[in-house]
Amino acid sequence: MTLVDQPSVAVTGGPALPQERRLVTPLPGPASREWLARRADAVAGSVGGTMPVFAVAAGGGVVVDADGNSLIDLGSGIAVTGVGNAAPRVVAAVQEQVARFTHTCFTVTPYDSYVEVAEALNRLTPGDHAKRSALFNSGAEAVENAVKIARHYTGKQAVVAFDHAYHGRTNLTMGLTAKNQPYKNGFGPFAPEIYRAPLSYPYRDGGLSGFDAARRAISQMEKQIGAANLAAIIIEPIQGEGGFIVPAEGFLPEIARWARENTVVFIADEVQTGFARTGAMFASELFGIVPDLVVTAKGMAGGLPLSGVTGRAEIMDAPQVGGLGGTYGGNPLACAAALATIRTYEEEDLVARAREIGTVLTGRLNAMRAVDPRIGDVRGRGAMMAIELVDPKTGEPDAALTARVAAGAHAEGVIVLTCGTYGNVIRFLPPLSISDDLLVEGLQVVASQLAAS
Ligand SMILES: *Cc1c(COP(=O)(O)O)cnc(C)c1O
Repeated sequence: MTLVDQPSVAVTGGPALPQERRLVTPLPGPASREWLARRADAVAGSVGGTMPVFAVAAGGGVVVDADGNSLIDLGSGIAVTGVGNAAPRVVAAVQEQVARFTHTCFTVTPYDSYVEVAEALNRLTPGDHAKRSALFNSGAEAVENAVKIARHYTGKQAVVAFDHAYHGRTNLTMGLTAKNQPYKNGFGPFAPEIYRAPLSYPYRDGGLSGFDAARRAISQMEKQIGAANLAAIIIEPIQGEGGFIVPAEGFLPEIARWARENTVVFIADEVQTGFARTGAMFASELFGIVPDLVVTAKGMAGGLPLSGVTGRAEIMDAPQVGGLGGTYGGNPLACAAALATIRTYEEEDLVARAREIGTVLTGRLNAMRAVDPRIGDVRGRGAMMAIELVDPKTGEPDAALTARVAAGAHAEGVIVLTCGTYGNVIRFLPPLSISDDLLVEGLQVVASQLAAS
């Protein structure tokens, strides 16, 4: 079948969508209202929802809702659609694959695209050592597998995660995640042998250097766990849900050095930071670290569910045959999408585009901060930036203000997400396919909502 027989590609997604913010109804409009009512009847109430509208198309820098409203996308479906929604190359690759075969299970009858994704991950992740990869479906599933692999390789059990960490919602990853509400509350008991260490959080650390923050964490690990019992340290190089916290310079290298010296597997959770998002292919590069294992997911496959663990060959090959896998891991549609997505990041130099977006975001957000002391901090890298909102007198987090600004932006047709342990961070994760004009307009809407709140 040719693309000519598939007009839906050009009509409903990709760059063919008008790149504009356009509100034709108050939000939510009547069609979205109807779906919201059906959702309330049919879908578990505990499944969250940021926007009060239902999507029918998306591409470039916009999401179009069921009433024909066109919203500026500053969230990328939580850092997933880095190459843009329904990106043309991804659409074509998936269409070609879906017509050939949809599933064989890689562990039953293998296929080329899984191997090619593994080769791409081995090539792109930091370090030139021998590497292997394994593919899974979700970020949480990949994190779990990274921990399995590290435990098997070291023969040790304890795992350290950090304050403000987010690693997922399955049982093991809930245990690794720091925040009780909404992620853990009432869902215990959690897996044993998980320990928490203090992070480097420059805005709230009172000037503690990265090195000293690392020594603080290391001292705690030595005293409370002991390196002889510690299988792995898992950390997001820049924290995602925890508030886009960028550790002070020197923090990550010192932790990585200590881990290496003590045969502790250093796992970088790059599920949110990976694939060009931060202005580097992987955020670990920004800090000069080479993790033993790198966990990837969100930005990898243009919106299809795919995740991976990539790392040192001797660590990845340690578990017994059949110890890793799953029915759907590395599904052929997701692998086809990932190959097209990775080609797009590389051929369109979206790493450079993420840096440009970072320059626009940094400039605008710092200008907002200069006139509004409620913006306590502007931080992040590349197309992963955030503002932390506080009471300017006390520095206390202001979650209520954050919620008002986000809701105001949503009502004005801008998709923004909040995050942070204290719920007081607005994060910006635009698709790298967004135009500067749309990005700036989206930021102006947020600025005017802040001024009015
Ligand atoms: C989103 C996220 C996860 C979990 O990924 P899922 O695909 O939602 O399971 C894990 N780690 C980080 C850093 C994330 O941002």
